[in-house]
Amino acid sequence: MTKFNMSINKLESLMNDCKNELIQLGIIDEENMNCEYKYVYKIGFNDRALKRYGRCSRKTDYHNKTITYNITINKYFTECCDEEKVKNTIMHELLHTLHGCMNHGVGWKSYADILNRNGYHINRTSSYKEYNEYVSSMRNNETKYIVRCEHCNKEYRYQKASKVIKSLSNVLSRSNYICPACHRTTLKVYDAKTNKLILN
Ligand SMILES: [Zn+2]
Ligand SMILES: [Zn+2]
Repeated sequence: MTKFNMSINKLESLMNDCKNELIQLGIIDEENMNCEYKYVYKIGFNDRALKRYGRCSRKTDYHNKTITYNITINKYFTECCDEEKVKNTIMHELLHTLHGCMNHGVGWKSYADILNRNGYHINRTSSYKEYNEYVSSMRNNETKYIVRCEHCNKEYRYQKASKVIKSLSNVLSRSNYICPACHRTTLKVYDAKTNKLILN
């Protein structure tokens, strides 16, 4: 799998490209924007919210008459998806900055339709195979121990030999812990790499 390393400068320049395209298409009409207020667009990476690719929030500073749009793009998404997909996500978020488009209602949808007729692929939600694979391989790499319940088959992943892992790996103390799902003392520790039972 290719791993891309997108810089913040690159991300900013992609946003500027997107913004200029929105102006060219007449979707953002700078002349008609509320002249009283200054509009600021910021973009950055997010490495905490794994479930979404992008996010847009708005902050209004009434005192300085500034409206700031803060767009964040999932860092891991930019590591595994190509520039085209990143641009689709930036566009998706930029559409949220338009009047009445903070949700995915009729307004947002009609602009998305215009962009989709101009080579974009913007949906309300998207799910890219490469991203799902990337995140699951990231998780697998971090997992050292898998605690598996023999009764309900539920699995719990651990990155370190924590107290729970140590107790469950020991014959004398393994019954100190119950499965959170089925409440039975049927948990066993497995080595995540070899899938071998660890029991001392
Ligand atoms: Zn959205
Ligand atoms: Zn269980």
